[in-house]
Amino acid sequence: MPYLSTWMDDELAAFRDTVARFVETEMLPHDARWRAQHHVDRETWKRLGETGLLCLDIPEQYGGAGGDFRHEAVVYEELSRRGISGFGQGVHSICAHYVLNHGTEAQKLRWLPRLAAGDLIGAIAMTEPAAGSDLKGVRTRAIREGDVYRINGSKIFITNGSMATLLMLLVKTDPEARRGGMSLIMVETEGLAGYRVGRVLDKMGMHAQDTAELFFDDVRVPVDCLLGGQEGSGMHQLMADLPYERLIVALAGVAAMEGGLEATIAYTKGRQAFGQPVAEFQNTRFKLAELASLVRIARVFIDDCIDKRLKGTLDSETAAMAKWWITDTQQKVLDECVQLHGGYGYMNEYLVCRMFADSRVQRIYGGTNEIMKELISRSL
Ligand SMILES: Cc1cc2nc3c(=O)[nH]c(=O)nc-3n(C[C@H](O)[C@H](O)[C@H](O)COP(=O)(O)OP(=O)(O)OC[C@H]3O[C@@H](n4cnc5c(N)ncnc54)[C@H](O)[C@@H]3O)c2cc1C
Repeated sequence: MPYLSTWMDDELAAFRDTVARFVETEMLPHDARWRAQHHVDRETWKRLGETGLLCLDIPEQYGGAGGDFRHEAVVYEELSRRGISGFGQGVHSICAHYVLNHGTEAQKLRWLPRLAAGDLIGAIAMTEPAAGSDLKGVRTRAIREGDVYRINGSKIFITNGSMATLLMLLVKTDPEARRGGMSLIMVETEGLAGYRVGRVLDKMGMHAQDTAELFFDDVRVPVDCLLGGQEGSGMHQLMADLPYERLIVALAGVAAMEGGLEATIAYTKGRQAFGQPVAEFQNTRFKLAELASLVRIARVFIDDCIDKRLKGTLDSETAAMAKWWITDTQQKVLDECVQLHGGYGYMNEYLVCRMFADSRVQRIYGGTNEIMKELISRSL
């Protein structure tokens, strides 16, 4: 019962082979070391840029590959199905899309080619110690002083945080404003006075990801770094781009389930107990049948979301449905995959063990699953 995504074609299949080869030879062999050092190698970003595997759906005129979301999807899938969770390609692309969708022409020309080349590593810095779901509560403040913004505050849980050289930073520019007075400022961090990366945070999973705290102490950034050039547009810009972020989270969830299930089928066929392969117990067969059904439902749903994204019709409620349902399902599926591996499923050297630990945060970041239900319920 092979299933082929509606959006796949021969060109994408050839592209998938290229991506898979890159991941197998230039990423997978380093994953254990990346997990131990809590970040991927800086050179890997550069290698992806040189190979043309960053910013695949950014137009060529801005240095991107000129593809569409299907090309990005192939990369997320090939990474996630192999459990490569430290490489923050998603937030890098999301950062680029904020610039593409909301930046001035000068801003696009300034940052997109360097993001596509891997010369800049992107991050999105919204969450603060006292404000995550409720972003209107952010306290990081940018005060305009002539040609610069003076920024003070801090951010936490920032993916790519320690290595990022271009931040999409959510700040308050007008704390008195009725609608929040929020703005997005693009901050180039290299050599920036007053900017400091704090701890790389010690997490439950995703150990190769350099999730970090960031501090801003009288940081001065030119006013032309205000995204789109209009103060107070931050919340509107965020609302427009969050469905894209949620689609990526959900897609990574589907690919992780597919990879975990494949590994579990292979494992249970090879593992013997009571004189027969574990795969032949009725419980195992029924569990695998249930998991395969859940994974197929998730796949068909995500493919529909991808089709909608390609047509420009992916609405925020549908993206929220995909994000909560798929990431909840991802955790159930991977939990069963661990169970079917027995004690080996609890060992980090096994893919399903790493995937299970890595998957927990999928229900939390990109907007918690409770916030997703809040969004969906408002549309009913
Ligand atoms: C590994 C990791 C990577 C991350 N990467 C990034 C990043 O790159 N950039 C970034 O800006 N942030 C990032 N985050 C932050 C993440 O987006 C937030 O943690 C998340 O949005 C939740 O915010 P919070 O932690 O403040 O929880 P809170 O908002 O304090 O929520 C606590 C609990 O209350 C619930 N809750 C809150 N409000 C409601 C409500 N209205 N109705 C019902 N329940 C509610 C939540 O669902 C949750 O269960 C990351 C987090 C992690 C753990």
